[in-house]
Amino acid sequence: MDAMVESAMRSAELAEESGLPHDRVILSAKVSGVQDLVAVYRMLAPRSDYPLHLGLTEAGMGTKGVVASTAGLSILLQEGIGDTIRVSLTPRPGGDRTEEVQVAQQVLQSLGLRSFTPQVTACPGCGRTTSTFFQEMAEEIQTYLRQQRPAWQARYPGSEELRVAVMGCVVNGPGESKHADIGISLPGTAEEPRAPVYVDGALRVTLKGDSIVADFLRILEDYVERRFGKSSGNAGAQRHVAVGVHQADIALPKNHA
Ligand code: SF4
Repeated sequence: MDAMVESAMRSAELAEESGLPHDRVILSAKVSGVQDLVAVYRMLAPRSDYPLHLGLTEAGMGTKGVVASTAGLSILLQEGIGDTIRVSLTPRPGGDRTEEVQVAQQVLQSLGLRSFTPQVTACPGCGRTTSTFFQEMAEEIQTYLRQQRPAWQARYPGSEELRVAVMGCVVNGPGESKHADIGISLPGTAEEPRAPVYVDGALRVTLKGDSIVADFLRILEDYVERRFGKSSGNAGAQRHVAVGVHQADIALPKNHA
């Protein structure tokens, strides 16, 4: 670790001696173990004011790569260490590189450091519901929000901070729904076939019948227009995301300390 830190500092010095401006230098230490990543950046952080680029090299495939990257990044980011991040996952054959970007964005959004896309909170399900309807609905809403994202980004600035709840029963669902911007509780086992919808913490309407999903999406779209549309006076903020071919490099807000 000591050698890696010394090497990074010396390389930065040489770069500056060779004419690279101080503000064009970013330090990145390549390690593939979570504890090594944390240790080396904790040593680097107090040594200079160079921005630090965090990421686990060769994190691996699937769940292992996602969890290892998240664990390492989260510890450091929570301590205020790091200015840009990357997630490097081994793709499945024929797999999609966008997973790296999604994981990196989700780490920042879960830590409350930067928002990229509306979030859906869905309950895990339990003995109170035997239906898979709420899981399918949560998936449908998440997919809908993802598909709307490119259009909403320009039309509804700030909508990336929207929180939607989809809960599996009306016994415990309304509580969680009230904490979201907009939430729905679907009927659980032996409950009346009705789905209360909460908007900004207050009961707005109770949906029934076969068109619950379509009706809810209409209410959601209306809410987004009203809250984030141009006529709402919401200015929002443009943000920059840089994406590399083999890794997702994402910059943190300037005030991340
Ligand atoms: S909201 Fe209802 S179905 Fe979902 S986990 Fe809670 S009690 Fe179970």
